[in-house]
Amino acid sequence: MNFCSQCGNPVTLRIPPGDNLPRHICVECATIHYQNPKIVVGAVAAWGDRVLLCRRAIEPRHGYWTLPAGFMENGESTADAAARETLEEACARIEIDALFSVLSIPHISQVHMLYRGRLIEQSFAPGEESLEVALFAEADIPWDQLAFRTISRTLKLYFEDRRKGRFEIHGGEVIPPP
Ligand SMILES: [Zn+2]
Repeated sequence: MNFCSQCGNPVTLRIPPGDNLPRHICVECATIHYQNPKIVVGAVAAWGDRVLLCRRAIEPRHGYWTLPAGFMENGESTADAAARETLEEACARIEIDALFSVLSIPHISQVHMLYRGRLIEQSFAPGEESLEVALFAEADIPWDQLAFRTISRTLKLYFEDRRKGRFEIHGGEVIPPP
């Protein structure tokens, strides 16, 4: 950040009084511009024993498979964001059941929150950000073509829990690849 989004004057990087991290502070209007992690929200949407995956039409990881997910918008709940992303990326309407995984990715300052849900009807199609959308049984999941580690970890936990007959909420952290 170089300029203040409030008044357009330059910012400097320093630690405000009472804080412990450097922040961008406007030299003119003194606004402190905090930068905090972004929240990505999505859904494991089931239809019977299959789950809905989207093949990405956008970078990063163009052509790889993912769960419908995206950045949360201001003014919505995390559950609403999961349903909205599923509608946008897979043209599918879902019923949300419960929060399933919350995974921190400190090196890119993101938190990924995935909900469990069910398709309301067997109706889906690629949205603008997807090349194709399909239902996959566990045995058919393209594990080596999944877009992100939070997605593969969430799917692995999902099928493990389903086998146990009991879904839990899973927290965790993803560290940078070696
Ligand atoms: Zn300013």
